[in-house]
Amino acid sequence: MPRRVLILGATGSIGVQALDVVQRSGGALEVAGLSAATGWETLVEQARQFEVKRIALADPHAAARAAEVWTDGEVLAGPDGIVALITESGAELVLNGIIGAAGLLATVATLGEGIDLALANKESLVVGGELVNHLAEGTGARIIPVDSEHSALHQLIAGEPVGAVSKLVLTASGGPFRGRSAAELSEVSVDDALAHPTWSMGSKITIDSATLMNKGLEVIEAHHLFGTPYSQIDVVVHPQSIIHSMIQLVDGATLAHLGYPDMRVPIAYALHHPDRAELPVAPLDLAALGSLTFEPPDTETFPCLALARAAGQAGGTAPCTLNAANEVAVHAFLEGRLGFGDIAAVIEETLDALPGGPIHSFETLSQADTEAREVAGEHVDARAD
Ligand code: MG
Repeated sequence: MPRRVLILGATGSIGVQALDVVQRSGGALEVAGLSAATGWETLVEQARQFEVKRIALADPHAAARAAEVWTDGEVLAGPDGIVALITESGAELVLNGIIGAAGLLATVATLGEGIDLALANKESLVVGGELVNHLAEGTGARIIPVDSEHSALHQLIAGEPVGAVSKLVLTASGGPFRGRSAAELSEVSVDDALAHPTWSMGSKITIDSATLMNKGLEVIEAHHLFGTPYSQIDVVVHPQSIIHSMIQLVDGATLAHLGYPDMRVPIAYALHHPDRAELPVAPLDLAALGSLTFEPPDTETFPCLALARAAGQAGGTAPCTLNAANEVAVHAFLEGRLGFGDIAAVIEETLDALPGGPIHSFETLSQADTEAREVAGEHVDARAD
């Protein structure tokens, strides 16, 4: 019997590559349903290609357009439609490839139903890590990371007894602006920031990689996924992106996970887990690469990494506020309303303006998210004037 997989965010970079993994699975995987935010034309094409009977679009207008042209199945609309897709599709595994904090609702619906989650939406853990983990523990659903660093860590940690791992070391490419000064960064364009040196990804995460916020979010993600204290999570810049992460063990050994950067590898790991499937990825040729290099992250020029770590350590609503402010600032940068160098400033101003508090429920998170977006928006406007 094929494993039935629901793919959320199907038209994005992760979703498209996940469908490639499904297509190459030789029938081991089957698509149970598909969702997207607004891209109804692509979603309908995908539904036809993978013979899916139910799709969902977060945008009701896009859902209405899809329903006009696609009559082979049911089109669900809005956040409620995505939740219904999750709870009623009979999926054994949900791949959450939704962008940003909007992905939290799908994570909660999936784990609440006791369905295993292949998690590419790191914001789910950044924003609601503790509640999300509680939910998974309550229903017994598993979270298998799709983020390449965390997939590497998941694989490395799996072979070790409790207490053997002394440190997690996340690698970072350093992004397209590694080695530049703060003054040089104020001049960069959107196109410059979207030209990632090693990974091919969507625009939001590519900007996050350029500011190092992506690595900051990943530190928080690792903390929640593996229950590791922040003091035991390090970041090292490794521009070639060949080592995807490392673990240090109490006996002085360090284990690393290597391969060419290709997101289909961690996607396939999560979708087939605990099995492995063939992918057309070249075997690693270290002699051809010649050398791998490493350096410490430049947290003065790229303050987002330190901001994220501090928000993670503060806990409560702080990571939610950090994430919401970052989403607003990155959106404004992509629209040409905010300078690259001002992204970190807007996030810092938002965190300063909003005292963090404890999280009682998902409602607390929703309020903190809304409030942070308002305050961040005001700071973006103030800088644009
Ligand atoms: Mg990553």
